[in-house]
Amino acid sequence: MADEREDTGSDPFSEMPFTHVLDRRALDRPSLTPDDPAGLPAGARTVDVLVDPDARAVLGLGWDGRRLAGDPAHPASGRAPTCYLGRDTAGADWFARPVEGADPADHPGLRSLVDLVDPIEAGAAATAQALLGWHLTHPRCPRCGGPTRSRDAGWLRVCEADGSQHHPRTDPAVIMAVIDEADRILLARNTGWPQGRLSVLAGFVEPGERLVDAVAREVFEEVGLEVGDIVHHADQPWPFPGSLMIGFTARARSAELTLDPREIAEARWVSRAEVPGLLASGAWRYRGRSSISGRLIEHWYGGPLPT
Ligand SMILES: [Zn+2]
Repeated sequence: MADEREDTGSDPFSEMPFTHVLDRRALDRPSLTPDDPAGLPAGARTVDVLVDPDARAVLGLGWDGRRLAGDPAHPASGRAPTCYLGRDTAGADWFARPVEGADPADHPGLRSLVDLVDPIEAGAAATAQALLGWHLTHPRCPRCGGPTRSRDAGWLRVCEADGSQHHPRTDPAVIMAVIDEADRILLARNTGWPQGRLSVLAGFVEPGERLVDAVAREVFEEVGLEVGDIVHHADQPWPFPGSLMIGFTARARSAELTLDPREIAEARWVSRAEVPGLLASGAWRYRGRSSISGRLIEHWYGGPLPT
């Protein structure tokens, strides 16, 4: 990886006003607790995760209007185990507790909370959503179809029939700010997105692929550009439902776009000078800086966008 600044303590974003990155770095997991703890330890913080008993999906997270909150009155769900998330710097242990039957209004989605909660809570919420989502969608063994049960405080499932072990799944995806020779950034709209929603390109890494090759392939497939100078920039867990977004910058070797109409509805080069006008007119509805796409865009721009 060409750029490991985030891992050496000098985060390239540290001087920028990005406060929440949905990662678990503020939670230490010194040891695993007993499986499915009957009683949570004193002082434990719980994230109530409202699950849909039919669709087996995470619907929302416990929220008291100010911070993540667990409510002992919420009925626990039998669809997933209580999972240990880790210990914060104050010594409190965090758990994700699946609940059913609660009011979705009391359990807003992680996307609506990410700009509100503090970094520890953002990391706990992201981990809770990804981990519980994985439990809900993996009740059976992919080898034999037999039932699996949770182990290691929610960080492993084991097949009761053949003993095979299954770990929480994370799907790597690359996301890249493509810049042309005139220092413009490429913004595109996916076919499924509403008018005005523009962002950088992204795509899943395929088997047998290096990350840089995934960047080059996705850019060429989606907009017909060849790119070079592919540099790792930062990455971010993205639990919708279980991705790791690995961010890059790349330099386009030409500016002519050939869109794949199955994936890309529109794409355009944008200069820094055009940004205020696009935002003011509503032609670009920027989604904010809590996602790595926003971090990449604002890194190119040189600071927060004039929203
Ligand atoms: Zn099995």
